[in-house]
Amino acid sequence: MEQKSNVSLKEAFLLHKRGFLIFWKMNPRAFFSRTILVIVQALTPYVNIYLSALLVNELAGGRDVERIVVLVTAVVLSTLGIAIVSDAIKHWKLYENATLSQDRQRIYFEKMLHMDFVDMDSQSTNDLYAQIMQNQNWSGVGIWKVVGYHENILQASVSIVASVSLTISLFTQMVPKTGGVWTVLNHPVSAALILALMVGISVLSTLCATRASGYQAACAADARFGNRAFGFFGFEMADDKRAEDMRIYNQQEVCENYYSKTNIFGIGSVFERLGKGRIGILRAVSSAVSASLQGFIYAFVCLKAWAGAFGIGSVTQYVGAIASLSGNVETLFKTFGELKTNAPFMKLIFEYLDIPNNMYQGSLTVEKRSDRKYEIEFRNVSFHYPDSEEWALRNVSFTFRVGERLAVVGENGSGKTTFIKLLCRLYDPTEGQIFLNGIDIRKYDYQEYMSIFSVVFQDFQLLAFSLGQNVAAGQKYDAVRVEKCLREAGFGERLGTMPHGLETMLYKKLDKEGVEISGGEAQKIALARTLYKDAPFIILDEPTAALDPVAEQEVYENFNKIVGDKTAIYISHRLSSCRFCDVIAVFEHGSVVQKGSHEELVKIEEGKYHKLWYAQAQYYV
Ligand code: ADP
Repeated sequence: MEQKSNVSLKEAFLLHKRGFLIFWKMNPRAFFSRTILVIVQALTPYVNIYLSALLVNELAGGRDVERIVVLVTAVVLSTLGIAIVSDAIKHWKLYENATLSQDRQRIYFEKMLHMDFVDMDSQSTNDLYAQIMQNQNWSGVGIWKVVGYHENILQASVSIVASVSLTISLFTQMVPKTGGVWTVLNHPVSAALILALMVGISVLSTLCATRASGYQAACAADARFGNRAFGFFGFEMADDKRAEDMRIYNQQEVCENYYSKTNIFGIGSVFERLGKGRIGILRAVSSAVSASLQGFIYAFVCLKAWAGAFGIGSVTQYVGAIASLSGNVETLFKTFGELKTNAPFMKLIFEYLDIPNNMYQGSLTVEKRSDRKYEIEFRNVSFHYPDSEEWALRNVSFTFRVGERLAVVGENGSGKTTFIKLLCRLYDPTEGQIFLNGIDIRKYDYQEYMSIFSVVFQDFQLLAFSLGQNVAAGQKYDAVRVEKCLREAGFGERLGTMPHGLETMLYKKLDKEGVEISGGEAQKIALARTLYKDAPFIILDEPTAALDPVAEQEVYENFNKIVGDKTAIYISHRLSSCRFCDVIAVFEHGSVVQKGSHEELVKIEEGKYHKLWYAQAQYYV
C-alpha cells in the first residue's frame, strides 16, 4: 500500500530527463515555446521590482524631475511591452501545444505498433500497460508530470538567479560612518549570519513541506483506489446499459454496501486523520518558518536602510527579491521531492517502453511469383504460449500448395487459431519449423512475408474512417477495385444505400453523420478488405459467423469466384461450409488428427471428422 520511493535524486533526475527528451523529440516546438514563456514570465516581476525601487529611491531622495520622468516612462513602457510580448508568446505556446496531451498517448501507441506480437499479446505486458494507465488516469502520475516539472524547475531556477542578482547590492552597499553602532551590519559576519539564516530557514521550511508531501505520497495506493471507487460509483453506476441489470437483480443494495465501505477521503478516513495530524502540523510549521524568515529579512534590510546604506525604494527591492528567493528555493526542493515520488511510476513506463524486440528479423525478400506457386510446410511444429505450460500445438506436420482450399476444423481450443497465428508469424514455433518454398519463414523480411497473406481474424476490427479507406486499408484507394471487392463480398446492395458511397464514414466516432453498420455488414467489409489486398494466400477465420443464413449461403456459393486462384485457408465450426474445400485438416488437442477431402473423411466412422459432421448433421436431417 505504501508507495515509498527508494530512488536516489540522481536516478530520479535521469529518469525524468529521459522522459523529457522523449517529449522534446516528439514535439520540440511545444517545449521550445513553453521554455521561452516560462523565462519571460519568471523575469517579469523582477523588472518591475527593480524599476519601482529606482523610482521610489528617486522620489524619496534626489527628486530629479527629469530622471523621475525617465523612470516613470520606463515603468510604463516595460509593463506594456512585457504584457504584449508575453501574451503573444502565450498564444504561440497554446498553438504549439495543442497536440501535446495526445503525444502522451502516442508514446505508447508507437511502442505498441512496433512491439513483437508475442509481447503485445502477453498477460504480463497487458498488466504492465494497465498499471501505467491506471497511475496516469487516476493519480495523474507518470510521464505527463515531466511537463509540469520542466516548468517548475526552469521557472524557479530563473527566478533564483534574478532574485540573487537583485540582492547582491544589499550586502555591498555599506552603512556610512554616520550610522554609528549600525556599521556593525557592514561586517562580513553579519552578512554571513543573515545568509546562513536565509538558507537554514528555507531548507527547514522545505523539509517540513516535503515531509508532509511524503506522508501523502505514502498513501498513493489508497488515493488511487479512492479515485477509482469515485469513478466507478460516480460514472459507471450511471451507465444506462447497467440500469436494467441493476433493477432486475436488485444490485443497488450491494452497491450501496460497497460504497459506504469505501471511505477514502471522507470524515474518519486516513486522509482526514493525516490532514488533522502530521500533514497539517508539518504544513503549518513550514509556513510559520517561512514567515519568520521574512521577519528577519525585514529587520536586517530596514535597519540598513535606517542607518543610511540605501534609500527606501531599495527596501522594497530587497524584501521582494528575498521573499521570492525563498519561495523559489522551496519550489525547487519540492519539485526535487516530487521527482523522487514520481520516479517509480517512470520506471514502470520505461520497463514497458524498453521491452525488446526479440523476434528474429530476417532479410530475405519473398519471391513475387507470377504463377503464384507457393508452398507452405509445417514440419513437426509444436508451440505453447509464453504465459502457459500447456502445448497449444503438438507435432503438427503438413504441406499445402497455392490454389488449394484448405479447411481447418476442430472443437474449441483445438489449436486452429494458434495454427494461423504461427503461419502469420505472430509467434514463432517453440519447436519445429515452418517453410515457405523450402526456406524457414524466419529468414524472410517480416513485412515482405506478410505481404503474401490476407487475413480476416475472428475478432477483426474496422476503423472509424471512410468505407473506401477501410477496404483499401490506406489513405488513398482505387475506387473501382474497392467497389468490385465490396460487391464480391456481398456488400453491393448496401453500398447503394450509403449516403456518400465509398466516402461514407463508418461509425459516429469521428463523424456525426457516420453510418453504424451491423456485425454482418462489418464482416462483409472485412472480407472485401482481404480481396482488395489481392495476396496469394487468403485466410478466413470464421468469416461468416456474423452473417445471416442467406448472406452466408451467398458467400459459400461465390467462394470459388471470390478466392479465384488464391490459396484459401478457411477456419469454420460449420462443417457444411467446408465441403467445397480440397483438403480438410481436423485438429484435436493441438494436433492434426485427420487430413483429406470431405468425402474421404466422412466415411471413416471412428474418425473425429465423422463425429463432428454427424453432431451437426443430426439437426439438419
Ligand atoms: P481454437 O482456435 O481451435 O478455438 P486456439 O488456437 O485459440 O483454439 O487455442 C488453443 C489452445 O491455446 C487453447 O487451450 C487455448 O486456451 C490456448 N490459448 C489460446 N490463446 C492463448 C493465449 N494468448 N495465451 C495462452 N493460451 C492461449
